[in-house]
Amino acid sequence: MGDLPTGTPLRIAILGGGIVGLSLAVALHMRGAPFTLYESAQRFSEIGAGIMMGQNALNVLRTLGLAEEYEQLARSSWREGGETGVFFQFRFGDGRDDGEPVGQLKMPSGKMSTHRAELLELLLRHVPPERVRFQKQLVGYAQLPGEALQLSFSDGTSQECDVLLGADGIKSTVRRLMYAGKESRQEPRWSGSYAYRALVPTDKVLAAVGQTITSTPIMWLERGRHLVNYLVAGGKYLNVVAIKTDYTQGRYPKWENHEWVEHNVDERELLSDFEGCGPQVKKIIDLVERPSRWALFDLPDLPYFVQGNVALIGDAAHAMMPHQGNGASQGIEDAHVLAHLLSHPKVTPDTVSSALKAYELVRKDRVQHIKELAYETGKLWELSTPVGDDVGMFAKAAGHNMDWVWGVDIDKQVQTAVSWFEMSLA
Ligand SMILES: Cc1cc2nc3c(=O)[nH]c(=O)nc-3n(C[C@H](O)[C@H](O)[C@H](O)COP(=O)(O)OP(=O)(O)OC[C@H]3O[C@@H](n4cnc5c(N)ncnc54)[C@H](O)[C@@H]3O)c2cc1C
Repeated sequence: MGDLPTGTPLRIAILGGGIVGLSLAVALHMRGAPFTLYESAQRFSEIGAGIMMGQNALNVLRTLGLAEEYEQLARSSWREGGETGVFFQFRFGDGRDDGEPVGQLKMPSGKMSTHRAELLELLLRHVPPERVRFQKQLVGYAQLPGEALQLSFSDGTSQECDVLLGADGIKSTVRRLMYAGKESRQEPRWSGSYAYRALVPTDKVLAAVGQTITSTPIMWLERGRHLVNYLVAGGKYLNVVAIKTDYTQGRYPKWENHEWVEHNVDERELLSDFEGCGPQVKKIIDLVERPSRWALFDLPDLPYFVQGNVALIGDAAHAMMPHQGNGASQGIEDAHVLAHLLSHPKVTPDTVSSALKAYELVRKDRVQHIKELAYETGKLWELSTPVGDDVGMFAKAAGHNMDWVWGVDIDKQVQTAVSWFEMSLA
């Protein structure tokens, strides 16, 4: 038996309060499992940009009782077209077909996107503040005699827990510590792409481009680059993401710069990267002021997400390209499965490592496949797959990729994970 008598709650530590760590906190809280969340920053914050939720994450939010609140937020930025179930409308960004729609991708709930800060605030309304510790940057963890772990923070303090869940993002410290001394590659890889991100006031867009751009989310397709736009924050802003990719240096070119993210970039650099685009894309880009620029990295397939009583979740485990708008959504799925396992009545400090293994068993193959699909989907948006710009084939391929991501039976994943855990105890 472990150190704790049966019936004593498991001491659960979540590391990182991004969208995934907070989703896990909400899911555990709703299932009556106490936890402590450690966050290195002084407060929770998200970047000034939009974020989409896939049908898969929406189904989890529904289980958590948050879907109504979320849908209300997302729908507050709908113009006409939102109610038609269109997730993305496709247009050529190079001016072909006068930039008119050439296809669309539907999701049952329609477009589901918000400002990131709105999503964060929604989650925070469901996390008890007394369970959060700020300015706690993890620098190490060690196995104590028995099953407990000792967490060490940069301020010199330490805390004990029975299970550590690393939701600390693509540059995860937990992942680095878990893989210390191992040969497996687990460092993020640059994809050859970078994304300019900006929020443009909608009134400016309406004046310059007109209603058609704001009514539905649009994916502007071009060879080697693409632009995504959709409304957020009650329709006040058009979220613009303009991505350019260099395919000439192989799948993972060397990243030479120190910084992954640059702020207040001179907009002439964006203009130059999109030189020769069609007139509508040009009008959108002309409205962008001082964008940020993000080099897009993903993670190689990790051989494991779990070691003993420590698990990786969200970007820490499977950071992926953003081309399916599903990186955070995958972390939300992770959180849902983990919360069921960690609130199982048979989970103790002794058995929690089996519960974590069950989590890995149902999640790893799915998220790693989606990670690959996300890269391939980016090539689709950039007309760089064998499908090219064949509009009929294109819509089919896009639908196929997204159905695979959105169509998960998450209840079945939970059931499989729980059955595995229970069998491991027999
Ligand atoms: C351009 C772009 C567009 C995207 N669009 C979408 C989209 O539309 N839909 C979608 O689902 N996904 C999207 N994604 C992906 C999504 O943003 C990420 O998958 C998601 O934000 C990851 O959340 P996370 O909580 O795992 O990590 P993070 O958001 O990175 O959070 C990690 C947290 O851990 C904390 N932390 C880090 N180290 C430590 C430490 N040592 N100690 C304590 N705390 C620590 C950090 O301060 C941070 O709060 C997009 C990504 C990009 C780049």
